Amino acid sequence: MRYISTRGKAPALNFEDVLLAGLASDGGLYVPESLPRFTVEEISSWSGLAYHELAFKVMRPFVDGCIPDADFKKILEETYGVFAHQSVAPLRQLAGNEWVLELFHGPTLAFKDFALQLLGRLLDYVLAKRNERVVIMGATSGDTGSAAIEGCRRCDNVDIFILHPHNRVSEVQRRQMTTILGDNIHNIAIEGNFDDCQEMVKASFADQAFLKGTRLVAVNSINWARIMAQIVYYFYAALQLGSPLRSVAFSVPTGNFGDIFAGYLARNMGLPINQLIVATNRNDILHRFMSGNHYDKDQLHPSLSPSMDIMVSSNFERLLFDLHGRNGQLVAELMDNFKKTGKLSVEDDRWTETRKLFDSLAVSDAETCETITQVFKQSGEILDPHTAIGMRAARMCRRSLALPMVTLGTAHPVKFPEAVEKAGIAKNIELPAHLVDLFKREERCTVLANDLSQVQSFVSQHGNRGKPL
Ligand SMILES: *Cc1c(COP(=O)(O)O)cnc(C)c1O
Repeated sequence: MRYISTRGKAPALNFEDVLLAGLASDGGLYVPESLPRFTVEEISSWSGLAYHELAFKVMRPFVDGCIPDADFKKILEETYGVFAHQSVAPLRQLAGNEWVLELFHGPTLAFKDFALQLLGRLLDYVLAKRNERVVIMGATSGDTGSAAIEGCRRCDNVDIFILHPHNRVSEVQRRQMTTILGDNIHNIAIEGNFDDCQEMVKASFADQAFLKGTRLVAVNSINWARIMAQIVYYFYAALQLGSPLRSVAFSVPTGNFGDIFAGYLARNMGLPINQLIVATNRNDILHRFMSGNHYDKDQLHPSLSPSMDIMVSSNFERLLFDLHGRNGQLVAELMDNFKKTGKLSVEDDRWTETRKLFDSLAVSDAETCETITQVFKQSGEILDPHTAIGMRAARMCRRSLALPMVTLGTAHPVKFPEAVEKAGIAKNIELPAHLVDLFKREERCTVLANDLSQVQSFVSQHGNRGKPL
């Protein structure tokens, strides 16, 4: 399988190189040159497979030519073996044809574990083969950082630096990052906000002289391997609900458009998904596109669902590429213009085409709490605020009551106690067994000023197992 850039100019890469690449050299994102397409018979034959076995069937075409089957199977078995639930991604029924796919049974209790546990192991495999070391730099407002650190903690050839805004992530989120100790793990608390962290990471990718030749790898969802890993659970859920003979709808709490883009790919690979719902919080740029063809940049609004607090959705460019007949030139023009004006619309017929599959809803903090309360009363389930947004959108936007509607349960409610409390649920949510002593564990973290040169010199002083590069 080869991968091409959404802006049409960067060279095509194989899977191994795309794993280690950040943005393409032309500023675009990598996508597969062509998607595998499975037949109804093939998909039917996968029902009853264990999660890691299904993962092999779905992802094999994407890594073809880079990872031998036996090695890939072993990696997948290890990856999904660390999840705390036997079925890895259990489906829970709330009402007739209403389901939650629980994606929060991984080590850090959010769906990002599905991709980052795999990414860490893939990096380890590829880097050992090449005998190469890399540095990872990432910015986090909470969930990505802990999942990336958990995913990479055992990678011999990786040093990972995660920047988070000092005193602006929840205590559970911070401790999930800072209590993982290792010479190759570096938590940096920046005296600034999330955007400051992200800007420093971006600037470091743009000018890598401080790394003295060591390669810098991205762990945010521009990394293709993350999207790839997320395709699997759409198949897993749909198979249990009667696919491929029956259509299924999904509602997806959305920020950077990574998770839902994986659902879109699953459909293009042959899974009968009849509707995908983009569920956003007040940061609703995607909802404004889906409902009115206006993808216009707004300010950032902090919300009760912080993992969806974004101004622009980086993976949206991957959808634009398909909408424009995979013409990289057109996408480059649109994105250049968006950079200048902060506005983007597509031609009417392209937008109408998008709306055949996608619906959307933006949900306020008050409505999020209302949904948490409502679902708790109806079913006894406590939803986290992100999942609650997905559930509300599922109920408001569904096209058919006759088809199963699956909301992706993206995080465990214990990660977001503030929202649960605001929803008036007095019940104390317990940390899962592997995290019960989280509040007693030793923390390790370096606080740095909001200053790029200080951050870069810290990285070059510690980027080789804690020693200078
Ligand atoms: C990251 C995250 C999201 C948003 O996922 P995207 O792929 O950015 O759309 C939703 N919910 C939770 C809990 C997350 O951590």
